[in-house]
Amino acid sequence: MESLKNKLVRFMTGRYGIDQLYYLGLFMGLGAMMINLKVDSLVLTIFSDGLILLVLLRSFSRNISRRRMENEKFMRLWNPVKKATRILVRRIKGIGRYRYRKCPHCKKTLQLPIKRGKHTVKCPTCQEKFEVRVIV
Ligand SMILES: [Zn+2]
Repeated sequence: MESLKNKLVRFMTGRYGIDQLYYLGLFMGLGAMMINLKVDSLVLTIFSDGLILLVLLRSFSRNISRRRMENEKFMRLWNPVKKATRILVRRIKGIGRYRYRKCPHCKKTLQLPIKRGKHTVKCPTCQEKFEVRVIV
């Protein structure tokens, strides 16, 4: 008798599987389900169930190249959001310890220690010097 694991492995052979778009769809679907516990809306039920069904069907798809292209399009949109979120979290963690200023030459954001007053800063990227003023 074949084990359940072997059956699952045989079923998933040649199928797309899980990617970042799968996790987003699952997360949104489960989030909508949680909200629907409080709201109890038919539209939200259809949305959450449809979304979860869609991501499951997508993971079972045999059209791997198309699913991969969909995920690449999603990642092109998602990566800037991810990067901006990471920068925002780093800035929030640095409140009280650092100030952030943009280099006027290369537009790179620099993390500077808090020293009140006017200072000359040398950008580590473009090696240009510029004035910064830290008031608080
Ligand atoms: Zn620079």
